[in-house]
Amino acid sequence: MFEKIIEQVNKAKTISIFPHSSIDGDGVGSAKALALALAALGKRVEILAGEAVPSHVAFLDCDFFKTEASFIPELAFAVDCSSLNRIENRLGVWQAAPVRACIDHHPSEAGFAEAMYTDPQASAAALLIYYFIKELGVEIDRDIAEALYTGILTDTGSFRYSNTDPATHTAISELCGLGIDHAAICSAVYENKPLEQLRIEAYAVDHMRLICGGRAVISVIPYDFWNGINAPYSCTESSIDVIRSLRGIEVAAVFKEKEPGVYKLSMRSKSYADIGSLAFRLGGGGHKKAAACTLKLSLKEAEAMLEAELEKIL
Ligand code: 5GP
Ligand code: MN
Repeated sequence: MFEKIIEQVNKAKTISIFPHSSIDGDGVGSAKALALALAALGKRVEILAGEAVPSHVAFLDCDFFKTEASFIPELAFAVDCSSLNRIENRLGVWQAAPVRACIDHHPSEAGFAEAMYTDPQASAAALLIYYFIKELGVEIDRDIAEALYTGILTDTGSFRYSNTDPATHTAISELCGLGIDHAAICSAVYENKPLEQLRIEAYAVDHMRLICGGRAVISVIPYDFWNGINAPYSCTESSIDVIRSLRGIEVAAVFKEKEPGVYKLSMRSKSYADIGSLAFRLGGGGHKKAAACTLKLSLKEAEAMLEAELEKIL
């Protein structure tokens, strides 16, 4: 499966790992598991995340995670990311490396890396990294298992989303047999929110609006709100999961004002709507049922544009 990538790994003594920007649980988990496996092979490894590990997966934080590069690697290795605009502030190092590899489950950009393995059907990048580590021949210890479990847990919505296939459960079954405390991991991920995050979720619920005849719900988290209560931007990420739980809707969307005038639009669909293609048309991307993009429009314009686009697909 991974022959070309393993060939590059075998040649390189130094490897930097690149998860996507706005790093999530799958990015952290797959990057850490890969880093541990490569270090076990004697490689010098760092994870160039470009930002701090988010608080809901802070228990996975470790010395591999760097916001600044300490070397130009012989191999740059992207995980959970296969488009240049999601490398963002690390582009210099990505391009300075003599060769690039990538393992991902997003629709990929052609020519993104010299050695690539992408599977858009895979429930999580961490599932692919699990297969990769097995093919590398590295033993999956408790730390690797914990990182992989967390990546799969978070990208499948705790094994609830339709991407959760039998292969996912088979992998999880093996990982759970390796001494991890799955209940403690779930509690750390889902029952450990700072007060500000719940306030932001409450704001998003309070400002919901039904559109498209009730088939979609949208909400907004203004910059002045989250910044005004001294929350980090990462505290806005979970609101979409609350909004999507509304009965009767197909699509949920949240406009998160990341910087004044710059909106990150997160979207989720429940069954038939392909919001991945919609996000791609708007300059972003993602999966059929979970996607996002960045819009530099006024909120009024952005909402009107989204409403018109959703009318076409709902
Ligand atoms: P979220 O709403 O959680 O930020 O993102 C939903 C999905 O869309 C995730 O799989 C995420 O990786 C992907 N995604 C988010 N923002 C972008 C973007 O700007 N470009 C691309 N290609 N994918 C994105
Ligand atoms: Mn992922």
